[in-house]
Amino acid sequence: MSAGGGRRPIVAGNWKMNAGAPAEARALAREVRRLCERHRGAAVAVAPPFTAIVPVVETLEGAEVSVAGQDCHWEAKGAFTGAVAPKMLAAAGCRMVIVGHSERRRLFGDTDESVARKTRAAIEAGLVPIACVGETLPEREAGEAKAVTERQLRAALGGLGPAQLADVVLAYEPVWAIGTGRTATAAQAQEIHAHLRAVAAAVGGATFAAGLRILYGGSVTAANAGELAREADVDGCLVGGASLEAEGFSKIVAAVAETRR
Ligand code: PEP
Repeated sequence: MSAGGGRRPIVAGNWKMNAGAPAEARALAREVRRLCERHRGAAVAVAPPFTAIVPVVETLEGAEVSVAGQDCHWEAKGAFTGAVAPKMLAAAGCRMVIVGHSERRRLFGDTDESVARKTRAAIEAGLVPIACVGETLPEREAGEAKAVTERQLRAALGGLGPAQLADVVLAYEPVWAIGTGRTATAAQAQEIHAHLRAVAAAVGGATFAAGLRILYGGSVTAANAGELAREADVDGCLVGGASLEAEGFSKIVAAVAETRR
């Protein structure tokens, strides 16, 4: 299959706990809008901290840039101090939400089960979940990368019906590559992406798998984004550190869009 197989790639910037003050977030969003919108070959999204979602949505009004939450709870409301419901994100103007990021799994106790509940709750609230999977370095070194990511993917998709599956976006983010400057090679990424697409086909059928966007995440920069996105099963990227600087982020968007020309 040629790069992308007809799937429109996505470049999503995960701002993490940065640029959360409204003025700073507005300034970054304004620059992302100015520099990224012209690269029509790739869809663009940014995931600001909760405190910056409304200012960023306002700044991006009418733009071809989606806003995503970085996490959500699975319940719609109630006594869950510190949590935000998917419907609240949707009401604030988000169209997407990241679930199961390795930092949430490692630092905040997310499990395969809670990620599955969040994935489903996001879809029920009208959001597109970006469900993250990825192995740690010891798991990779033990030869378990495929098994771990397969387990995480099967869990995330487990409770979804056929129509709900169509809304899912997947991100393969090897934990050892996140924030480390150590990117997976294009071949390493492609190997896992192809495996995940095969697992998706087994779970939801060939049509679902063929349309599923699988993003790569882990130290993506303007220098490596194009090579990664040229792989047949890599449909864009989830970008952490490099999404905090609009110029560099726009070069990643351009590099990914270029692979589909
Ligand atoms: C991430 O946190 O999703 C990520 C990929 O981070 P970085 O690009 O900084 O490795």
